[in-house]
Amino acid sequence: MIAHFDIDAFYASVAQRDDPNLRGKPLAVAGASRRAVVLTASYEARRYGVRSAMPLSQAKELCSTLLVSPPNFTRYRELSAAVFEIFARGGDAVEGLSLDEAFVALGSRDLPQAVAYAQGVRAAVQAEIGLTISAGVASGKMPAKIASDDAKPDGLIAIEPGREAAYLAPLPAGRLWGIGPKTQNRLAARGITTIGALAELSDLLAYELFGRGGKAVRELARGYDNRKVEVDRPTRSVSSEETFEYDIRDGAELHSALRSLSADVARRLVDHRLRGSTIGVKIKLSSFTIIARQTQLAVATDDAAIIERAALRCLLRAGLDGAAVRLLGVRVASITDDPLRELSLFSSDAIRRV
Ligand SMILES: [Mg+2]
Repeated sequence: MIAHFDIDAFYASVAQRDDPNLRGKPLAVAGASRRAVVLTASYEARRYGVRSAMPLSQAKELCSTLLVSPPNFTRYRELSAAVFEIFARGGDAVEGLSLDEAFVALGSRDLPQAVAYAQGVRAAVQAEIGLTISAGVASGKMPAKIASDDAKPDGLIAIEPGREAAYLAPLPAGRLWGIGPKTQNRLAARGITTIGALAELSDLLAYELFGRGGKAVRELARGYDNRKVEVDRPTRSVSSEETFEYDIRDGAELHSALRSLSADVARRLVDHRLRGSTIGVKIKLSSFTIIARQTQLAVATDDAAIIERAALRCLLRAGLDGAAVRLLGVRVASITDDPLRELSLFSSDAIRRV
């Protein structure tokens, strides 16, 4: 069995947890710029139709009493680490999908045991962290995730093994992994609107609609998903970016933005005891053209000044020449969390050179 957990309205719930004045009120977590979008809406705000990714201006039109709170990623990481520590109690393997969402492998446990584990996690997250978290329990990743979505907020749904297809059948086809809005429209034009209809596709129609992937889609629609829970992949990069209030053309202003982005990335590397040796910048022009440049350091670093110098070299290499910049980002990749491994790489380098 597999459990999928997802904290309810994470950013908004954290804000409400930390500030009693925000509790029970329509709240959007969003940045302060003119172009800000809603990152997360509290359930109170969702009743007015406020949704994630909606421009803040539109959200305020829908809900005139909407409160707005800035995101606080340091806080999210702290609480996320505490929640993941709870997942690990009694689970066989934890695969994080984001700060507030994870799959947990439950080995050979039967349904009642898996449900007992998941209820235990939900109770502990509520009691120890003060957040509500929803859970889905099923035989595979996809049905477990769909179940936890259905369980929101603050609920648990368990799908009995053998009942996956029956559970999924009435749901809209678009809820199946891999079926985006475009495919959904294409399917609807053929009268296929539910997961159940996908589960019953003939070989021929499955091939016609999805090519060689057709049988896999049909298997998924029938609730078969034997992908394993993978223990956390290591962090591959740490980045920070900023969309400017107004497009920037001035080199000195860009350099100053680059300095604060580099400092932010360095702070997060230090917090997580990570270092990286690939430094890159991302530049989005007002024309929405994206330019990326990167450079390789000899030694992995978490030092803000070194990151800034390397990022500045990348920025200069981009040859902006006064072009209007809408967004700037700094990224550190080729991450290592093991200083010894770094040393051993160097010594083998040295040996090869000899
Ligand atoms: Mg969530």
